[in-house]
Amino acid sequence: MRALNVLTVPAFNDNYLWLIHDGEHAAVVDPGDAAPILAALKANHLSLTAILTTHHHADHVGGVTALLQAYNVPVYGPARDRIPAVTRQLHEGDVVALEKPGLRFHVIDVPGHTLGHIAYYEQEHGWLFCGDTLFAGGCGRLFEGTPAQMLSSLDKLAALPDDTKVYCAHEYTMSNLRFAQAAEPGNSAITERLHIEQAKRDSHLPTVPSSIGLEKKTNPFLRSRETAVINQLRAENKLREADPVTAFAALREWKNNF
Ligand SMILES: [Zn+2]
Repeated sequence: MRALNVLTVPAFNDNYLWLIHDGEHAAVVDPGDAAPILAALKANHLSLTAILTTHHHADHVGGVTALLQAYNVPVYGPARDRIPAVTRQLHEGDVVALEKPGLRFHVIDVPGHTLGHIAYYEQEHGWLFCGDTLFAGGCGRLFEGTPAQMLSSLDKLAALPDDTKVYCAHEYTMSNLRFAQAAEPGNSAITERLHIEQAKRDSHLPTVPSSIGLEKKTNPFLRSRETAVINQLRAENKLREADPVTAFAALREWKNNF
């Protein structure tokens, strides 16, 4: 079997599009723009075999139509988001099995950022493609879903093995970690991570992928039940009742205005 690789394709200001390939065939995740994908396919002598989408936002699906003009391939996407080009609608528990490149994705429903948002988990390689749900150091905005939905979605992702690589769709890490530090000032793992990720950015390197283990230690949105985070929310006068959903909602609201 050929070894598989994940290629990072930057697009727009801060998006990452992902090409998973075996040196010959490639599947793309969230092609918001076709041009950089077509260029990366050409540069790496790859042929596109499948398109996977996590949710309906234009910066994740905007390139699908143009890619279909160059490659007649299946388009996978969430059943509950409105993505016209999707040919295979997916629900939680579905498996996307691709022959070339050889991949098996488990579909996880992660509503919150949009109502139909899904994530793709490749168990054999320990890869998670989670769109705008879990970010390095943060989480997506709640455009359509409720805090309860997003908290439950993030809980599902946090339950994956610690060494799972998290391929999120944006380079928001530094601003996320600055918020993380405000939300949990005593957490030395956040301070340490800030330095490590800043060094990557200074060298123009992506901070993505991260890992579930690192997110559990440093991402306030996976730590909203921690006493230190709840105490900080109280100290900032942003929380009276400490049930998990209220704390999560207060945290997300604080980040919106941070
Ligand atoms: Zn989005």
